[in-house]
Amino acid sequence: MQPERGFSTQAVHGGEPERKPWSSLTVPIAQTAVYTFDDTASMLQYQEEVHREGRASREEYGRYGNPTQHAAEAKLAALEGGESALLFASGMCAITSTLLALLSTGDHLVMTDDCYRRTRTFCLEFLQRFGVVPAGDYEALAQAVRPTTRVIFAESPSNPYLRVLDIPRAVAIAHDAGALLLVDSTFATPYNVRPLDLGADLVVHSTTKYLSGHNDVLGGVVIGPWQYLQKIKDARGTLGGVISPHAAYLLLRGLKTLGLRMAHYNEVGARIAAFLHGHPAVERVHYPGLPGHPDHAVARAQMRGFAGVVSFEVRGGLEAASRVVDALRIPRIGPSFGGPESLVIQPALQSYYDLSAEERAALGIRDNLIRYAAGLEDPDDLIADLDQALARAIAS
Ligand SMILES: *Cc1c(COP(=O)(O)O)cnc(C)c1O
Repeated sequence: MQPERGFSTQAVHGGEPERKPWSSLTVPIAQTAVYTFDDTASMLQYQEEVHREGRASREEYGRYGNPTQHAAEAKLAALEGGESALLFASGMCAITSTLLALLSTGDHLVMTDDCYRRTRTFCLEFLQRFGVVPAGDYEALAQAVRPTTRVIFAESPSNPYLRVLDIPRAVAIAHDAGALLLVDSTFATPYNVRPLDLGADLVVHSTTKYLSGHNDVLGGVVIGPWQYLQKIKDARGTLGGVISPHAAYLLLRGLKTLGLRMAHYNEVGARIAAFLHGHPAVERVHYPGLPGHPDHAVARAQMRGFAGVVSFEVRGGLEAASRVVDALRIPRIGPSFGGPESLVIQPALQSYYDLSAEERAALGIRDNLIRYAAGLEDPDDLIADLDQALARAIAS
């Protein structure tokens, strides 16, 4: 077997067919919803393959697959070290379709609490049979599993506090209980950690963030052994949330520079965290690369870097944090992260706007919290901008 090539070689060439239509260098966008058969025999051969293996060597209809999408899936599987990958219209679509495919009535799900708001909403309001445990509390996790627990779901790093899951430890708890460990690795990307290598059963990403990398396209992916993906592919065909060919192309294009971009984000994230740490206007910085972070040791052992999102609490309350956000000149106020443009949000006022102060407190969403997502601007400019914004907040 050929030795596995370096990350960026895989990012550029991995998963792509060696020969592409019209001798094209890049994977063409197959902008079609329908694929046709020459005769009944070839159509029956396709049906037979799907019936036997759940997948086929050609396409039939856009909801079941598209060649541009398959190239992007193969590249993601190569980068993540997984057997197969399935792309969806969004990260949420990947998460909801995966959980719907893996869980049936009566099955139990355990998830960690610091996580993407809509993931929590889905589990709470749509699935109903689940348990939530605090991120980082492995005793609580072990106690929460029941004989009917089928899936343990955790984000790592998590949103917005960037808690890092000790993946081998969570794998042991899941497998002891006969459950699967599903990790949302959106904040890490395969550049920084490959959960499957550490024993996780499935990985999901919102490809909207670092993987696509340009703040211009939605997508989601689940990666892992075909044994599980076959069921999820079937669910995708029924639920209908497949990625579009054009979105798959933008993802393929973004992935080629993933290694370069992540090396940059790891550096700028660490620099911003170090700048904020100990700043007189800042009460607390949440970044796994800082020694004071509760999961620093796990993160150091498990990850190559910690990417470009830094959460921090400013001195004062809700208004003080808003003043800092409004004084920033480079990042725009907006959700998401992982593109060229820096973005900033105050979670209490944006993702959790509809909750009361008490409800937010119960979820651990603090009023003075800011989530800063560095882009690809010059790090010196971002830090100078943070410096002036914090100085103005202190002065007012
Ligand atoms: C953005 C995000 C999602 C949702 O993905 P969409 O592509 O926006 O649907 C899920 N999990 C995490 C950790 C995210 O950051």
